[in-house]
Order: sequence, then C-alpha cells, then structure tokens
Amino acid sequence: MTTNLKIETFTLGPLQTNAYLLTVSEPDAGQNGPAKERGIVIDPGMNPGRLLERIRNIEVEAILLTHAHFDHMGGVDEVRKAAGCPVYLHDLEADWLTDPRKNGSMRWQDVTPPLSTDPAEYALDEGQTLQLLGLSFQVMHTPGHSPGSVSFLHGSHLFSGDVLFRMSVGRTDLPGGRERDLYDSIRTKLYKLNPEVTVYPGHGGRTTIGFEMANNPYTRE
Ligand SMILES: [Zn+2]
Ligand SMILES: [Zn+2]
Repeated sequence: MTTNLKIETFTLGPLQTNAYLLTVSEPDAGQNGPAKERGIVIDPGMNPGRLLERIRNIEVEAILLTHAHFDHMGGVDEVRKAAGCPVYLHDLEADWLTDPRKNGSMRWQDVTPPLSTDPAEYALDEGQTLQLLGLSFQVMHTPGHSPGSVSFLHGSHLFSGDVLFRMSVGRTDLPGGRERDLYDSIRTKLYKLNPEVTVYPGHGGRTTIGFEMANNPYTRE
C-alpha cells in the first residue's frame, strides 16, 4: 500500500499530550495550483494554538478521540469549530465531553478549568473501519485506562492513546479504569499486531509493538 500519508505530532497543554495530525495532499484537480491538503486530527489536546495555525488551510475531515480525558479533548471545540468537522468517540464515553466530572477536568483544577463541550457526532466501537482521507482506519476497543479507550490502526501505524506508552502503560486508577482490562487490551489485542507496527502514544515518544513486547517492564510475563 503506498500513500502519501504524513503524520505530524503536536505536544500540547500542561500534561504534554500528543495531538496527531494526519494529512494527505492531492494535486489540485485540473489546475497547477497548490496541492490541496486533507487531514484528520487525533486527540486535539489543551491549548491547541499551534495545531489550529497548522490546519488553517487544511480540509480537516474528522477529529478522532482515543478517549475523553480532558488533556485529550481540551481542544475539541476549537478544532471542531475551525474545521467544521465531526468528532468520533467510543460510546462508553458518550457523556464525558459534556461532563467535567467524567472527563477529569473537575479534579485537576491546578492545571485546567472545568471543561465541557458539545457531544461527539459519531460513536466508535470495536471492529469498525473508518474511511477517512481515502484510507482505512480500524477501530480497536482497548479499555483499561478508561472504559471507552480505543486505538486506531492504519497499515503499520497505531495510535494508542493512553493505553500503551514507550516502556510504560496507562494508569488505571481513574474513574472507570481497570487494570485487568488494560493488560488484556495490550496482550490480547495490541501484542497480536505485527511487531513492526509503529505506536504513536498519547504521551511521550513513539515506539513499536515489537520493542514493547521485548522491553516494556509492565507487560513482561
Ligand atoms: Zn487519559
Ligand atoms: Zn493523557
């Protein structure tokens, strides 16, 4: 599969959350004008100024949320308004965008005001395939860090939210978190992927499935 998919990382907000911008460019039909860029945003974190600047001339088709904690959804409404595009979120967190107690922003008042936004337009579920940018994105329900955590797989790229990090895993002590589910998600779903798949986590640097299987101290048998 050859695509001209480009992946950019914007590390945003007080918790240094990774927002990912995926773009494809197409030559302007018929004209020699500038290439037209289309994109999707995964997890528009808090203080999305740099991201908003970057997407100004991009046709953004969708905002995908790996889950609805405040550090991942903080920029949702600004990006949604700027782009005029829908938001996708797992059904189990359908009421988290509107509820600052559920998205955690009530609890960390030293880093954020209480956040509430309009609900998501579309619900995600295990096994769905999203067609965006002319590409397929597989939705994997990977609960444990939060009940509606999902990972998005496109080819050899996995966007894992706060489930799997380089040499670490997501915390399970927040409301709706469950340690048993987190390890099941990683071992029975993510670790079944090709070891060469690149992992783009919600915090920290990228890694691969194979590297984590061999080295992640939290998931070694
Ligand atoms: Zn989180
Ligand atoms: Zn996070």
